[in-house]
Amino acid sequence: MDLDLTTEQEIIRDTARQFAKRELAPVAAQRDAQDIFPKKELLALADIGLLGVNVPEEYGGMEAGVVAYSLVITELAKACAATTVAVAVTNMVAEVICQFGTEDQKQRYVGGITDGEMLTGSFALSEPQAGTDAASLRSRAEPGDGGWVLNGAKQWITSGDTSGVTVVWAKTDPASGPRGITCFLVEKDTPGFTVGRHEDKMGLRGSSTVSLTFEDCFVPDSAVLGDLGDGFKLAMVALDGGRIGVASQGLGIGLAALAEGRSYSLERKQFGKPIATFQGLQWMLADTATELDAAGLLILRAAFLKENKRPFTLEASMAKVYASEAAWRACDRMLQIHGGYGYVKEYPIERYLRDARVTRIYEGTSEVQRIVIARELLKRQDRLM
Ligand SMILES: Cc1cc2nc3c(=O)[nH]c(=O)nc-3n(C[C@H](O)[C@H](O)[C@H](O)COP(=O)(O)OP(=O)(O)OC[C@H]3O[C@@H](n4cnc5c(N)ncnc54)[C@H](O)[C@@H]3O)c2cc1C
Repeated sequence: MDLDLTTEQEIIRDTARQFAKRELAPVAAQRDAQDIFPKKELLALADIGLLGVNVPEEYGGMEAGVVAYSLVITELAKACAATTVAVAVTNMVAEVICQFGTEDQKQRYVGGITDGEMLTGSFALSEPQAGTDAASLRSRAEPGDGGWVLNGAKQWITSGDTSGVTVVWAKTDPASGPRGITCFLVEKDTPGFTVGRHEDKMGLRGSSTVSLTFEDCFVPDSAVLGDLGDGFKLAMVALDGGRIGVASQGLGIGLAALAEGRSYSLERKQFGKPIATFQGLQWMLADTATELDAAGLLILRAAFLKENKRPFTLEASMAKVYASEAAWRACDRMLQIHGGYGYVKEYPIERYLRDARVTRIYEGTSEVQRIVIARELLKRQDRLM
């Protein structure tokens, strides 16, 4: 693994950084306060190719790889984590279709995502009673005339109301447990597919998180993604990759918090000198910088392995659990450095803290990541080094 970025990766990272500074940062606080969905910004990201960083060129992507994708997510998250989650989920949808879709599905949906026509993709796995235990989902798909009839309810679906295409998991053979789950591609405005409640979240307020209902929703046979009964496997593969995205998002939020804490500590004076001169606060800055660097290296390793088509499940879980928890500690410490000013909306630090919290929950909670890590560790002695 090379720690030097390629020229292409640097250019892509810098493009994302400039976009984030110019287009996202100035409106991030307003987006958070007024729950404004970043439609204009997502279309602009599609225009400059950043909705398809790790997507093959033949489907409109940049084909620049996972490391470049991770750098983009980190840069965007420094400015607006709410926009970033829509980008990350859309990328996850594009990737899973690229990996398992038919040529028609790739042309239609991945092409539609990268050129902005579909705006976003969404990933509908979770249900009201099936979160961590995703295989216990209850949505059903029964054979119909030339296709499948979906019935069920989905919960917590990011961008479920704005997406041109939603990947939906449903049971096609309930007696077969996880092997009886199949994936379907459902287009916006399909009869029987309705968007329900918008969640009133503590953070990521500019992103939309909705419930979805499927009532006798007919989709043709061509809507099946992958093989019948392979849906759970597809979800696990997609989530492994998605975890690199969430880790990168956490890192971006943490770095933004560190930059804010650093500059505040240099400006704010108490006892006649900048509070940055107090060793107690310097140690907070030092620990935070060290932990975020460690997170960045774990992310880079997982992204490198994925990019080189090597196993990366363990490394993605390590990156996700460490980066999301380091981001939380970063926000908490930097808020402390702001004193009372950290607790009010005059400074962005309270938003960073609210936004960071969910990275420990979605795409597998911290507890789930530790289960994955322990499982791999117990299975593979070579992990002990
Ligand atoms: C803002 C937001 C956006 C989301 N976007 C999407 C999306 O786009 N698509 C989608 O499908 N889902 C999405 N989710 C759902 C998310 O993935 C789930 O919330 C997450 O998987 C946890 O499921 P749960 O909330 O049902 O918690 P539960 O599974 O009920 O877990 C509750 C607690 O129990 C712990 N726990 C559960 N099982 C175990 C175990 N075996 N060992 C130890 N601890 C355990 C969990 O870690 C957690 O602490 C989103 C959630 C949020 C909040």
